[in-house]
Amino acid sequence: MHEDQVRRIQAATLLHRLPSTLATNFIVSLSAFALALMRAPSDTTAIWWLCAAVAMLLVRSVSRYALLWTKQAETRPTWALMLISLGAGGSGLVWASLPFILDDFSAYGIDGGLYLMILGVSTGAVMMGVGFRWNGLAFSLPCHLSVATSLALQEDMVSLILAFNVVALTVILLRSAVTSESIFVESIHRKLEATAMTESLQAANSDILDANARLELLANCDPLTGLANRAAFNTALCDGIQQAAKNGQKLSLLVIDLDRFKHVNDTMGHKIGDELLTEFANRLRNHLPTDHAVVARLGGDEFAIIVSGRDPAAEGPRMAEAVLRQGRKPFVLNGQTCMVGTSVGLAIYPDHAASADELFVSADMALYRSKDQGRGRWRKFDPKLRAAAERQRQIEADVLPAIERGQVEAWFQPQVSLDTQRVTGFEALVRWHHPTLGFIAPPEIVAAAHAVHQSERLTAAIADASCRLLLDLPGLGLPEATVAVNVSPREFALYSVADLLDATVARHAIDPKLLEVEITEEALLDTVIAGEQLKRLEQSGFALAVDDFGAGHSSLTRLIDLKVDRLKIDRGIITHIASSQRNQAIVSALIRLGDALSMEMLAEGVETEADAEALRTLGCALGQGYLFARPMPFERIAGWVAERQEKKTRTRLTG
Ligand code: C2E
Ligand code: CA
Ligand code: CA
Repeated sequence: MHEDQVRRIQAATLLHRLPSTLATNFIVSLSAFALALMRAPSDTTAIWWLCAAVAMLLVRSVSRYALLWTKQAETRPTWALMLISLGAGGSGLVWASLPFILDDFSAYGIDGGLYLMILGVSTGAVMMGVGFRWNGLAFSLPCHLSVATSLALQEDMVSLILAFNVVALTVILLRSAVTSESIFVESIHRKLEATAMTESLQAANSDILDANARLELLANCDPLTGLANRAAFNTALCDGIQQAAKNGQKLSLLVIDLDRFKHVNDTMGHKIGDELLTEFANRLRNHLPTDHAVVARLGGDEFAIIVSGRDPAAEGPRMAEAVLRQGRKPFVLNGQTCMVGTSVGLAIYPDHAASADELFVSADMALYRSKDQGRGRWRKFDPKLRAAAERQRQIEADVLPAIERGQVEAWFQPQVSLDTQRVTGFEALVRWHHPTLGFIAPPEIVAAAHAVHQSERLTAAIADASCRLLLDLPGLGLPEATVAVNVSPREFALYSVADLLDATVARHAIDPKLLEVEITEEALLDTVIAGEQLKRLEQSGFALAVDDFGAGHSSLTRLIDLKVDRLKIDRGIITHIASSQRNQAIVSALIRLGDALSMEMLAEGVETEADAEALRTLGCALGQGYLFARPMPFERIAGWVAERQEKKTRTRLTG
């Protein structure tokens, strides 16, 4: 490759110098012609010689133009060099002919001048032909040869000495032609190497720039969907808020969740899950007015859109509607049509938040709201949500210390035989009077304990209080009364409820059959984790009650399998049962079911004497509700039992 380049530069250099070479040659030719005329004015040979010399110069000049015109010096440099050298050789031959064509040529007088000219012009040719030895030599070798030969032929001593000197000069010229060419070629090589080095440095530099651009893309791009990733989203949100604050504008943030993504992922596999995410991302990218929006995937099935532009407060809800429309369209995955749906939370800067973090949390709260309300919808952030979240955070922070200090306590609600009015047992219900927030509803306490992974501590505290009550009940004349503890379904997945209760009854030396475990129908249906635990509870001898029966979907098979001791009919069916034929029919059917399975039936939420009477008539054995008593703290139980006892004796006496 380099060689070709060198030839090209050699050819270009020769072509560049050729005009001055030819011009010099022309002038010297005229001088030689003049000398030839002076030595023999009648000799026409000199005229012919000049014609030949000028013709040769013309041919060389024309070939130069042809080479330049056809760009052969670049495309075929070796051929161009040959052609130029041939031209030089032609001129050289014309000059070399001089001593032989002129009559009586000798080394003396005017002829000596001609010799000098021939040698001078040929030496000049070698010097001008620097860079490519054959060009200069093609001209000078014939000249030197001719001079040396013609001198040698004159056979006198002086001519011989001169011929010898010409030969020596020829050798020196040869050597200098070779050396100067190699110096020239070497310098071209250096130059080419330097250029190549610069080029490769430039290429390396642009490679680095390319790699940087690719890295930047990777750092900002979600690899699965090609949307902005979380890092890019965070930056865009901060920038967007800064910009909006500067211009006194608003900014909308949408947080989006695919409703049934987990289901698709679990049932159809991760690959199909990925396909769903990609397709959804494409819909967001291609079918939404995203000119002034940043669409990002934050991870999993969570997406977000930042809306800026002219009126983001109005555009936000429109965008949310558009997202819902895209989510509602069926997805075709692996040949199957799936309906997925989306939930969207919307928050607006600065209406709902003053910073990027706060705006995101607000949009997230709105998203949870929309999921709570049944999914497939969008909700705008409401400041009440923040208060609720703040309250929840506070409850979660305080629940463990409150359990430890005994501020979270068990209250007890009596359960009564509808027939004999005898107290058959109590249900333990959690109570907490928070120093600043007041009474906290039990489901909130249970959820908070779960959130901070303290469900076991909570149940342990309630079970402990229940056992203490069980120890007292014989003293109150109720040796057979039971105490029920509620265990929520998800607790079964967290720790061994049977181990905890075993240890608790053992510590208090209580008969386990007096401690009842209330579970909901939901736990009944989970045959794997809860199922295993319920079997263990049964084996330990605890009584099992199914809570809120009739509110969900119970499985008869599971009821029979587990040997449930008691069904607690949900308050929803019991309240106002006296006036509801329909509810009476349901309860009657449930009671017959309980009879058939040898389960005790307890009606929850008995509030009026009329309802109690109706339940009695239907054959329901037990009742629990405000009619008999509200849940009460431990200390009040003895008084309540005594008071009840007194009332009963009084009625009997008066009756
Ligand atoms: P639940 O197990 O169905 O408890 C009965 C709920 O009905 C109690 O509400 C009780 O105060 C209320 N109630 C009783 N009689 C009547 C009545 O005649 N009329 C009306 N309107 N309500 C009546 P509470 O104490 O607010 O508890 C609510 C729920 O919280 C409980 O429902 C239970 O699911 C849960 N819970 C309470 N304590 C605990 C606990 O220690 N652990 C667990 N895991 N859950 C608990
Ligand atoms: Ca209960
Ligand atoms: Ca209940």
